[in-house]
Amino acid sequence: MSGIFGVASESDCMDDLYYGTDYQSHLGTEFAGMAVMLSEGRGEVHREIHRIAHGQFKNLLHGFYEEHSARMGVGAITSAAPQPIVVETRFGTLALVTTGLITNSDSLRSELIGQGAAFSEIQEGRANQSELVAKMIALGKDVPGGIENVFDRIEGSVSLLLMTENGIYAACDRASRLPLAIGRRDGTWAVSSETCAFSNLGLSVQKYVQPGEIVFFDSSGLKDTAGRSGTKRTCAFLWIYIGYPASAYNGVAVEPVRERCGQALARKETVEADLASGVPDSGTGHAIGYAMESGLPFRRPLVKYSPGYGRSYTPPSQEVRDQIARMKLIPIEEIIRDNRVVLCEDSIVRGTQLRNLTIRKLWSAGAAEVHIRVACPPLMFPCRYALSTRSPHELAARRAIRALEGPDIEDVSEYLDPASEKYGQMVEWIRNDLNCTSLAYLTQEEMVEAIRLPGDHLCTHCWDGNE
Ligand code: SF4
Repeated sequence: MSGIFGVASESDCMDDLYYGTDYQSHLGTEFAGMAVMLSEGRGEVHREIHRIAHGQFKNLLHGFYEEHSARMGVGAITSAAPQPIVVETRFGTLALVTTGLITNSDSLRSELIGQGAAFSEIQEGRANQSELVAKMIALGKDVPGGIENVFDRIEGSVSLLLMTENGIYAACDRASRLPLAIGRRDGTWAVSSETCAFSNLGLSVQKYVQPGEIVFFDSSGLKDTAGRSGTKRTCAFLWIYIGYPASAYNGVAVEPVRERCGQALARKETVEADLASGVPDSGTGHAIGYAMESGLPFRRPLVKYSPGYGRSYTPPSQEVRDQIARMKLIPIEEIIRDNRVVLCEDSIVRGTQLRNLTIRKLWSAGAAEVHIRVACPPLMFPCRYALSTRSPHELAARRAIRALEGPDIEDVSEYLDPASEKYGQMVEWIRNDLNCTSLAYLTQEEMVEAIRLPGDHLCTHCWDGNE
């Protein structure tokens, strides 16, 4: 996953680029970079990329920000390969950033190599996705034709920003799983994965890039749109977990969706409790909604200690990551002891951190009961469009099914139906594994209702396996 940002301005754009890119920090943990088209000299691009595992974007890129003056730039923060990519083509010098996951990148790379292309950014035997996309665009009859070529050929999903000497192209593939919003402030136009990047820069949303649409803009505004339209399938997980609470996608704000998820969880509650809370930070919005609907007080039995850690600090080993995760969440015994706690969580991926780092702390601090409420259905399928890190084996629901049925089961459809006996057995297995008093999930219908977009405009592959 990556967060991408681009800006074209009549005046210096460095403030917008630097802070706008920084507001993508929750979407990536590996690399951060910016590229600017210098105001003086045609086609001269300066770029800097840093690994952010041991530092934050704002510190690492501050020198680049201070040293440059430019009217146009793109930036990215990513959990994937380094970017922006800069390439020389017959369309001039291009700087490209992408987000998404191209699942047939190996075969596309082999095909291009067969045609004489060379790749320079190979990491662990894999092509850099943004370099692959840049090479495919370079083969087009023009830039929009090259982007169409990418959308014709890829499997998976990609949204991209391409800076040329004259302006910035912003494009989403024909399912538009990962949205891009265009914003404006007087003579400054910007584009961002996250609309939370706009508010404090004084930018307001002008439009969302549509499925398959290729938008071109410069400092004087939107110039052109091209592309073959597709069918919208915006990632529903953006609202539930991935996206920032202060953002909106396709005009639907994240935090109110999370509140509605919590309200829906509270409406079907069957237990009595003393307080409502959320796993910080991503369960907080859901918990506030739960408290609003149930009338229970919203309290914080666990608080996150973030000073000294920094949001994008990613230690190199799993052991150290686990240790830091264990240290970050601090229980408050005075709130927990003898209380029946409802704890809202955005989703359960593996469940190991929830069990070991959260629920265990509540029991140790004297909780009377711990009721886990999850703001989406059980995650059943790994993402093939945005997140590259999950395999089906690690998902808690799949571990439950394996334990109940043995390792070879392919058809999990009965486990998708919340009314089925098998669904109940699976949830009970996960509850037992988590060691909580009760466990309940939202249904897919309830989740989609909370998002308030038509179900067929959303990607819900994580939960139902549909395309
Ligand atoms: S599979 Fe899940 S995480 Fe991936 S795009 Fe679809 S809803 Fe989002």
